Amino acid sequence: MKYGIIGGGPAGLYAAYLLKKAGIECIVFDHQIPFEKPCGGGVTSKAFEHFEILKDLPVFARTVHDFKFIAPNNREVKVACMHPLQIVSRKTLSEYMLQKCKDAGVQWIADEVKKIERKENKFEVYTDTSIHFFDFIIGADGAQGISRRFLGAPPFLKNRYSGIGYYIDGLNENEAVIKFYKKRTGYLWVFPRQDHSSVGFFSLAGSFSKELAYNTVKEFLSTYYPNYTVNPKRYYSATIPIIWEWKREHIQGKNWALIGDAGGFTDAITGEGIFYAFKSAEILAQAIIENDVQQYYERCQPIIQELQKSASIFPKFYKTWFTNAMVFMARRSAFIRQVLVDLILGQQSYTTLKATLKKNIPRVFKEIIGLSK
Ligand SMILES: Cc1cc2nc3c(=O)[nH]c(=O)nc-3n(C[C@H](O)[C@H](O)[C@H](O)COP(=O)(O)OP(=O)(O)OC[C@H]3O[C@@H](n4cnc5c(N)ncnc54)[C@H](O)[C@@H]3O)c2cc1C
Repeated sequence: MKYGIIGGGPAGLYAAYLLKKAGIECIVFDHQIPFEKPCGGGVTSKAFEHFEILKDLPVFARTVHDFKFIAPNNREVKVACMHPLQIVSRKTLSEYMLQKCKDAGVQWIADEVKKIERKENKFEVYTDTSIHFFDFIIGADGAQGISRRFLGAPPFLKNRYSGIGYYIDGLNENEAVIKFYKKRTGYLWVFPRQDHSSVGFFSLAGSFSKELAYNTVKEFLSTYYPNYTVNPKRYYSATIPIIWEWKREHIQGKNWALIGDAGGFTDAITGEGIFYAFKSAEILAQAIIENDVQQYYERCQPIIQELQKSASIFPKFYKTWFTNAMVFMARRSAFIRQVLVDLILGQQSYTTLKATLKKNIPRVFKEIIGLSK
């Protein structure tokens, strides 16, 4: 079997790396890598603990232990986290993964795929200059890639977040900041990196304009970091997919599978996708290696259940009263602070969240009325 991997982001390169290490032939297509993908670049410690391949990456990353959450009513709470967030430049991550793949002997074609055609049991992959033949296609070309369309998976359409972001040189905060807004499903973030900060805002596609997002970031900076501003022309915009109801056809069909953002593997509450890009790549590669690729969807169930839960909660999570109440409670309750940061860092599962909160109601109540800290 010959595997064609469309896209060399974290998902595509990790799948290629694992397949090649297992002696399975594959070719990666990507015209952009290594590049600075528009992204916050927050990689949770869960990802570092889980994926051996990332063990050398912290050298290049910025470690952040402190978070500040700002409610729509502008109340703030600071939370120190036990499990730090590593904030990486996506170019660095891209270079790092590419080098790992080159060392493993992965073949990479630096061309954009323009078309994928199924011809009986084979796929033809077209670039501007060449045609390649594969038995199996792995779509790893991100939220706006072409694989979903050509392979016949349902489109994301309005099921997505849109974000705009800026890199602000010299803004060298020690804490990561997350600001919630009135009537906005999404948040503004400040993620410090080594010599600059990634600052941006995302919300449901169609619910805001670029102008509004720009003004939101500009106004935030003038309030919290008056020495910094953004150039209205130098922003990036990008998409985060959301799948509301998971079905097999979203990620798998006859001799094809989708991983990472192309498969919709992102957390609808936090927007975290790097962990899920690696995880879905790992699950698919393992299924291929064990000759069990038909079960890819079933093997993904643990992450699908988590993402499905997140998708079912997120419209309520971003209600103005809820984010205000969450920050209010976190200011008084150490337990709520912990849950909040664990959610952001992927340490608290959405599927057990309700039970965790229920079990601790008496403790939270005591903390809120000031009987314990
Ligand atoms: C504004 C924003 C902020 C984010 N912040 C975070 C964060 O802080 N932490 C986090 O975990 N996640 C974050 N995410 C999500 C994260 O960026 C993605 O989930 C992650 O990059 C998915 O990896 P991937 O490999 O699936 O896709 P991508 O990283 O998007 O890679 C896709 C690759 O496919 C290539 N490609 C596309 N089309 C073609 C084609 N036709 N032919 C060949 N190659 C092609 C592209 O060049 C690209 O290299 C953020 C996303 C956005 C939009």
